[in-house]
Amino acid sequence: MQLFALDKDKKIFIGDAIRGVNYSCFECGKYLRMRGGQFRRKHFYHSQLDAGCRHSKKSEKHLRVQLQIQKLLPVNDSELEFIFIKILRIADVVWFSRNIVFEVQCSNIAEHLVKERTEDYHSIGYEVVWILDDWRFNKWKVTPSEYFIKSLPHYYVSVSKENITFYDQFDLIQKFRRKHRGPPQYVELGHVFFTYLIEKKSRKKAPKILKNRMETHRVYFSRDLTEIYLREKDSTLYRSTYLKGIKRPHRLKQLYIELLEIALTDVES
Ligand SMILES: [Zn+2]
Repeated sequence: MQLFALDKDKKIFIGDAIRGVNYSCFECGKYLRMRGGQFRRKHFYHSQLDAGCRHSKKSEKHLRVQLQIQKLLPVNDSELEFIFIKILRIADVVWFSRNIVFEVQCSNIAEHLVKERTEDYHSIGYEVVWILDDWRFNKWKVTPSEYFIKSLPHYYVSVSKENITFYDQFDLIQKFRRKHRGPPQYVELGHVFFTYLIEKKSRKKAPKILKNRMETHRVYFSRDLTEIYLREKDSTLYRSTYLKGIKRPHRLKQLYIELLEIALTDVES
C-alpha cells in the first residue's frame, strides 16, 4: 500500500492517479495500480502478489502515521516517500530544513537493517528519528532491534481509530525484558531542538540515560524526556512532571520510583 508511484519518470500522488492505468513502484520497479475510494483510502498496490517489496507490505496504519507526521511539520518543508538517489533510499517522511528523516516501523525489522538505514542517512547529513508502533513494540519482551533502536532517536506511536499520538518513555530494560514503564510523555514532532546547543553544565548533571541521548543524538523534540529535563531541571517541577499520571504519590511509591531512576542510570548504559 503506498501513496506515490512513478508515472514513466515522474512521481505521481494517489490523488492524481487514474484507475486501470499501470504505474510503477519506485523501489522495485514492478507495476502498481490504484484502488480504494468510497470505503477505503485510495492507494497504489502491487499487481503481482509476490512482489516481495517493502512497500507492498506497508499497511494503511503505516500510511496514516506518515500523513500525521507530515501534518505536524511546517507547510512546504516536508515530503512523503522522498527518494534519496545518492544512497538509494526512500524516506517515509523528510523534514528538509532540519535534515531529519522519520522512519515509521509498524512491523518487526532486523537489527542490521536498522543499522544500515541509519548509517546511510547519516552519511548524507540526515538524522533518523524512528517511530515505533506500540501495537508491535513497547511490550514486555524487547527484541534485539528494538533494544538497538532505543539507543537512537526514537518515539512510540499509538494509533487508534480517531487519534495518532507520539510519545517518549522512560523505561527499565534488563535482559530484553521491560521491567518498568514510565508514563508516556507526548512529544511535539513539529518542534525540534539541536543537542549541540545544550550547555555543558546541563549535560554533565543529567541522568545517565539523558546524557547518552544528548551526546549521541543530534536532535530532541518539545516535551520529550530530554526537553522536560532541561526545562525543569532547576525546579522541583521536574519530579512532579515526571511522575505525571501518578496522583499524589505515596512517599514509598515515590521512593521506589526514585530508586528505579538510580537503577536505570546504571543499567541502561
Ligand atoms: Zn515495489
